[in-house]
Amino acid sequence: MNADCQTDYDPNSLALSEARARILSSLSVVHGCQTVPLLDALNRVLSSDINAPRDVPPYRNSAMDGFACRSADLESSGTASLRVVGESLAGHAYTKNLGAMQAIRIMTGAVLPDNADAVVMQERTESDNTTVSFDVRDAQNKSFVRERGSDSSKGETLMQAGVRLGPAQIALLASLGIHQLQVHRKPLVAILSTGDELVEISGSPAADQIFDSNRPALRALLQNAHVDTLDLGICPDDPNEIRLRLLKAAASADLIVSSGGVSVGTADHLRAVLADIGQLNFWKIAMKPGRPLSFGQIENTPYFGLPGNPVSTLVTFQQLVAPALKQMAGEQKPTAELQLEAVSEHTLNKQAGRQEFQRGYVRQDENGELWVSSTGAQDSHRLSSISRANCLIDLAAGSAGAKIGDRVRIHLL
Ligand code: AMP
Ligand code: MG
Repeated sequence: MNADCQTDYDPNSLALSEARARILSSLSVVHGCQTVPLLDALNRVLSSDINAPRDVPPYRNSAMDGFACRSADLESSGTASLRVVGESLAGHAYTKNLGAMQAIRIMTGAVLPDNADAVVMQERTESDNTTVSFDVRDAQNKSFVRERGSDSSKGETLMQAGVRLGPAQIALLASLGIHQLQVHRKPLVAILSTGDELVEISGSPAADQIFDSNRPALRALLQNAHVDTLDLGICPDDPNEIRLRLLKAAASADLIVSSGGVSVGTADHLRAVLADIGQLNFWKIAMKPGRPLSFGQIENTPYFGLPGNPVSTLVTFQQLVAPALKQMAGEQKPTAELQLEAVSEHTLNKQAGRQEFQRGYVRQDENGELWVSSTGAQDSHRLSSISRANCLIDLAAGSAGAKIGDRVRIHLL
């Protein structure tokens, strides 16, 4: 059997999951940490654990607008009538203790008197300004009381190194008064496109040239991955130039991602150059789109050589580079991707022996069921069909495709 890159089935090719595992096992977290203000910490990855420096809430307070009282003053049943002796507002505490059969009006978040142990919500009371009455069952010990330290208690480990900070984590840190913190340095990723046919998006292509769409795509993918980009431009199909650019990239970046030039065409020089300046594996991965792909090191910098076809670049980035970047960024528990399934609205043809990612559009019906339709022609150069997609339909290597009504696995884009 002819088993070059163009054939659809090659028994020697590597499963995608195996390629991903090999890549992840060879990468480590980038060196270096930084102290950043909390206000600039969105999407950064903690490099050390966070222990609560204080209790939150810092004082016992009310969870409701209502009346604070001492439950021990009350009979076990019936209506209680207490004298209202003051009020506690958020930021303006009532500083005395309650006497027998006394209550105060209290607002949400306001300090409770030390000897008050219950709050009756306003809606369950009747009050003129001097007395309040309510059913005693609405004034159970501890009802609507937020204890000191009930959210975060001093000394407790609240977040571990490796957590990526989102708005909720930033809110928690702010509640503790943590205004700066230690994070991992962001990986710096060098990108370059290779090909004599490529021109910048602001340029004027000759009759035999096209715009470079992979670099803008890679920049966007890297922005989504919250890493920094070093853009090394378009490199012509010239071995010396490729060599110089890759060495430059290796000297300054944590990871190099190039696109194009890794197949066996006559202008595909990367293989020869890389044999000289790096250790590279040229993998035939049993996936479509996505072959050929290379992964290895240039000097000591890890390197991905992605296929030039634009859809292949997007898909291989999502499947292989994105998880690598999470690991390099120091993420300890990358958010697990949901294993979603949808019912196919189309017949999906594929050949067995390789994992296929087809472009799909998923929608949810009124019963909550997910339905996925193909967005059309699947050739690797067709950006139009991936631009209409909101997911990739993941057809396992062993499957022969899907019939209308079959359940298929999808990955949201
Ligand atoms: P290659 O991997 O260099 O053989 O390229 C495969 C296909 O992808 C060819 O049709 C190239 O013109 C196209 N291609 C390569 N790089 C890019 C790029 N940066 N932007 C758009 N198309 C590209
Ligand atoms: Mg090329």
